[in-house]
Amino acid sequence: MALAGLSAVRIRVEGTVQGVGFRPNVWRLAGECELAGFVLNDGAGVLIEVTGADEAVRRFIDRLGTETPPLSRVDRLISEPIVANPELQGFRILESLEGEVHTPVAPDAGLCPACREEIGNPIERRFRYPFTNCTHCGPRFSIINAVPYDRGRTTMAEFAMCPACAGEYRDPSDRRFHAQPIACHTCGPKAWLERLDGRAVSFDQHSMLDDVDAVTGVLKKGEIVAIKGLGGFHLACDATNDEAVGTLRRRKRRYGKPFALMARDLDVIRSYCAVGPDEEQLLESSEAPIVVLKADGPNKVSASVALGLDTLGFMLPYTPLHRLVMRGIDRPVVMTSGNISDEPQIIENSKVSRRLQSVADYALFHDRQIANRVDDSVVRVMAGKPRLLRRARGYAPGAIPLPPGFERAPDLLAFGAELKSTFCLVKRGAAILSQHQGDLENIETLEDFVKNLCLYTDLFQHRPKLLVVDRHPEYLSTKLANERASDQRLPLLEVQHHHAHIASCLAEHGVGLDMPPVIGVALDGLGMGDDGALWGGEFLLADYRSYQRLGTFKPVAMLGGAQAVREPWRSLYAHLMVQMGWPRFVMNYAELELYAYLKAKPRGTLDAMLAKGINSPLASSCGRLFDAVAAAVGLCRDEALFEGQGAMELEAAVDRKTLREETDDLAYPIAIPNRQEDGLPYLEPLALWQAILGDLILKTPAGVIAARFHKGLAKAVAAMVEMLAQDPNAEERRSDTVALSGGCFQNKILLEETMHRLEERGFRVLAHARVPANDGGLALGQAAIGAAHSIKSRGESHVSRNSGSSR
Ligand SMILES: [Zn+2]
Ligand SMILES: [Zn+2]
Ligand SMILES: [Zn+2]
Repeated sequence: MALAGLSAVRIRVEGTVQGVGFRPNVWRLAGECELAGFVLNDGAGVLIEVTGADEAVRRFIDRLGTETPPLSRVDRLISEPIVANPELQGFRILESLEGEVHTPVAPDAGLCPACREEIGNPIERRFRYPFTNCTHCGPRFSIINAVPYDRGRTTMAEFAMCPACAGEYRDPSDRRFHAQPIACHTCGPKAWLERLDGRAVSFDQHSMLDDVDAVTGVLKKGEIVAIKGLGGFHLACDATNDEAVGTLRRRKRRYGKPFALMARDLDVIRSYCAVGPDEEQLLESSEAPIVVLKADGPNKVSASVALGLDTLGFMLPYTPLHRLVMRGIDRPVVMTSGNISDEPQIIENSKVSRRLQSVADYALFHDRQIANRVDDSVVRVMAGKPRLLRRARGYAPGAIPLPPGFERAPDLLAFGAELKSTFCLVKRGAAILSQHQGDLENIETLEDFVKNLCLYTDLFQHRPKLLVVDRHPEYLSTKLANERASDQRLPLLEVQHHHAHIASCLAEHGVGLDMPPVIGVALDGLGMGDDGALWGGEFLLADYRSYQRLGTFKPVAMLGGAQAVREPWRSLYAHLMVQMGWPRFVMNYAELELYAYLKAKPRGTLDAMLAKGINSPLASSCGRLFDAVAAAVGLCRDEALFEGQGAMELEAAVDRKTLREETDDLAYPIAIPNRQEDGLPYLEPLALWQAILGDLILKTPAGVIAARFHKGLAKAVAAMVEMLAQDPNAEERRSDTVALSGGCFQNKILLEETMHRLEERGFRVLAHARVPANDGGLALGQAAIGAAHSIKSRGESHVSRNSGSSR
C-alpha cells in the first residue's frame, strides 16, 4: 500500500461541491501540499486521488474539510488508501464523468464583492458588464438544464467563450476558473431595452451610456419597466411615485398583496425602515432574499406599496444588471414578479411582449435564457432568528439533511398542498424541497408544477418508490399524485395536513426518527381532518410515524364554504351567531356600527344556512378566527384579496405600547372546556368575543383590541399546551418539547408571544426557520412521514391512534 514515507488516498466528497469553485480549491491545496494526482466531478460529487509524503497527505485531508469555498457545503468526506505510484507527477483537474447523480445542484448566488468592484471600475474589462460572475457568485439553478453542472448543460452553452474568458476559465489560479457562466462584453449575453408599444426607444432624450443605464432614467420618469433578472422577469417602478405604483397595481391586477422593493444600498433602506444587525446580514448575504422590515424610517414610499401593513419587504441588487440599474437611483424601486394577477412569473422574452404589453411601458431584455423559474425568497427576523416565509431563490434546491434514523429512507416524492405549493424529493436520506411554486388553483401554476416535477426528476435522477400526498381529495396535487400512482403502479400514502406541518418542523430541527413524540401546535388556515371535517387549529401528540389529536379550536361554520375565506365578515357573523345568537347580540350591542353593518346582510338566508348546515362546513380554524376578529374591528371586512390578509392587517394594527406594557390580566380570555361528544378539550372564545364587543362599546382603539387578542390567544395556546403535556396517568410531562407550525405562525407577534410563554413554562420550543411554517413547508413533513412509514420501526411507536394510510 505505502512505499517508504509515501502514501496515496482516494477521497470522495459529497455535498454542494460542483459549480462552486471546489476543484480549483482542491488544486490549490494539493499544490501547496506538494501532492500529485487529480480531481474530477462525477455523478456523486467530487473525486480526488493524491499521492505524496505521508505527512503532506494528512495535512491535505485536514485542510480539505476546513478550507472550503464560500458557496460550497461539504456533507460527507470519505477517504480510503490506494496503491501509491511514485512515478506520478503534477496535479490535474480532469473532465467531468457521467454517472448516476446525487450531487445537489447549487442555488443561485448574489453578486459577490469582488465582481461588484469590477463592474464599477473603469480599468476592468468587465466594467459595466451586466452578466459578470465568478465561482463565488452568479446564476446556478436558474440556468441548469441537466447534471453534472457544466457550461454545456446550462443556458450558457450557446455563448462561445472569447480567448480572454477561456484563459480565465482554464487558469486554476483565477477566480473564474471553471466558472460555468463566465462571460464578458465580447462573448457573453447582452441586454437591450425595448418599448412595449412597438415604438423605437429614443436615446436622444436620454443621453445614456447604454440600454441598462437608460432604465434608470426611465424609472425616474415614473414609467413601468419589465426587467429580466435571474429567475424571472420583474415589474419595476419608482416606489415613491403614487401614480406609478397605482398604475402598476391596476394594470397587473394585483390589488392586495404588498409589493417587494429593491434599493441601491443599505443607507437607502435605512431611510425607510429599521434594519437590525441580523437583517443587515441577511440583506447582504449571497442568498440575498427579500427581508421584511418594520417601516419606520424618516422617508415614506407610496402608501399603496404595502396597503394596511407596517412592514416593507426590501432586497439589495443581487445581480450586476440590477446593480447597474439601481446605481443612479437614491430611492426604493418596486420589484414585483412579472406576471398578471396570480400567474407564474414570466421567464421567456417572447411572452413578455404578449402578456405584459398592457402592464409595462418598457422591457429590459437579455439573451441568457432562464431554464428554471425561481421567485425571490422572503425572510423575516422573528423571535431573534431569520425565518423563511417563502423559500425560493438562493435557498432552493439546497438539500435539507434528514435527521438521524432516516439514512435508510427509500427515494420518494411528496406533493405538498394546494396554496404556496412546493414538492419534496427524498434521495439518499436527504430532502430536496422545491422552490416556491405558487397556488395550484391557477392553471398555469399547475402546468409549471408538473414541468418542475419533471425537471427535478431529471436533475436528481430520481426514481421514487413511494408517493406522498395530503389527505384532501380535492387538492390538485393530490389528484396529480393519484394519476401518477396508478400510471406508474406506485404506492401512495395519504398524510393528515397538520401532522405533516408538525413533522416538517421536527425534520427541520433534526429530531431523530425514533425520538419520543412531542406536543405539536398547528395554527393554520384549513386542512382536511381525519374525521372528514376541516381542521386548522390543532394540538397533537406527534412523532413521524403517527399522531394523536389532543386538543383543538372550537369548530365554527364557514358560511358559504370557500366564500367565507374571501369575505371575512362571514366568519365574524358565524362566530357571533354560534356564541350568542342574533337576539342577544342586538340586546347588548345594537349601538355598535358593527350591528348596522351585519343587519344589512341577508340574514334570513344566512341563518337558514347555519341552521340546516347548508354550504356551511364547520372548521376548527385559527386563520378564520383571525379573519373574524379583524373584521370585527373593521379591518379587511368585506373582502380579503388573499388568504391571511385579515391576519396580516390585524398584526400590523397591534398597538406596541399595549403589547409591551399592559398586564396579561387584560389579555382577552379564552376558556378550555371539553367537547361533549368526545371529551376533546378545545379553545372556547365566548369570553373573548364578549370582551372584544365590550371594548368596541367603549370605543377602545383597534390597535389595543388587536394587542389584547394576540396576547389572549398566545396565553390560551400556552395554557392548553401545559394542560395537554401533563400525562393524566403519570407525574411527569408527556413531552417537554413543543413544535409550532402552520401559516398563523408567520405572524411575528403571535409567534413571539407564544414562544415566550411556553419557554417561561419550561418547554423547549421548536419553530420553523429554514423552512416556511405555512403550506410552503408542508411537503417536507409529508416526505418525513412517508420515509418514516417505509423504515421498519425499531420497537413500538409511542402514539397509537392516527397515522397516514396507504392505498
Ligand atoms: Zn463574483
Ligand atoms: Zn469573454
Ligand atoms: Zn396548512
